[in-house]
Amino acid sequence: MNSRISEIQSRILALQGKIGTSAAPASSAAASSSSTQFADYLQDAVSSAGTDTISAAGRNYTLNSKGIPTELAAYGNGKIPRSALQQVGTTNHRLWAPAASSLTSLMADAAKDGVRIGITDSYRPYDEQVDLARRKGLYSQGGLAAKPGTSEHGWGMAADLDLDGKAQAWMRQNASKYGFVNNVARESWHWAYKPNGV
Ligand SMILES: [Zn+2]
Repeated sequence: MNSRISEIQSRILALQGKIGTSAAPASSAAASSSSTQFADYLQDAVSSAGTDTISAAGRNYTLNSKGIPTELAAYGNGKIPRSALQQVGTTNHRLWAPAASSLTSLMADAAKDGVRIGITDSYRPYDEQVDLARRKGLYSQGGLAAKPGTSEHGWGMAADLDLDGKAQAWMRQNASKYGFVNNVARESWHWAYKPNGV
């Protein structure tokens, strides 16, 4: 993040230089082109500041300013095709690729410690979010479901895990190293992928 801030600072300094020199001849064409450039540079600076890069399996992935995987955002929450998600280990569950890779490693490392991490739910299509909200109620109203279309499951960014006491303790100790956090107060099973601690 610091490197991005300094990159933005240096772009702003460069920009100030451009405006300073092009304003001197005071031609209106030059002035309007420099203000267009200013808008472009500002847009670039803001959009690069709003993304987070995650490296997984030799590829770079990004999250947009809302924390949504850039490559999935256009599909919409709960509308992501199966092929755009990645299988978690040998399970029937799928998540956004970096989350799937990371959870696969997490489960393998837990197994080495004699701990079994099971998955009960992962990517959740929109229709299932609607059904869950109907059956379990909205979290905001004391229930256990996100407002349909806003669930972390709908971006392939969270998994509900089947954890016994030992596994729950292992997760609390280790999950953050894999980018997973238990971020819903009443749901000890819900682990979201927040790779950069966002
Ligand atoms: Zn969940």
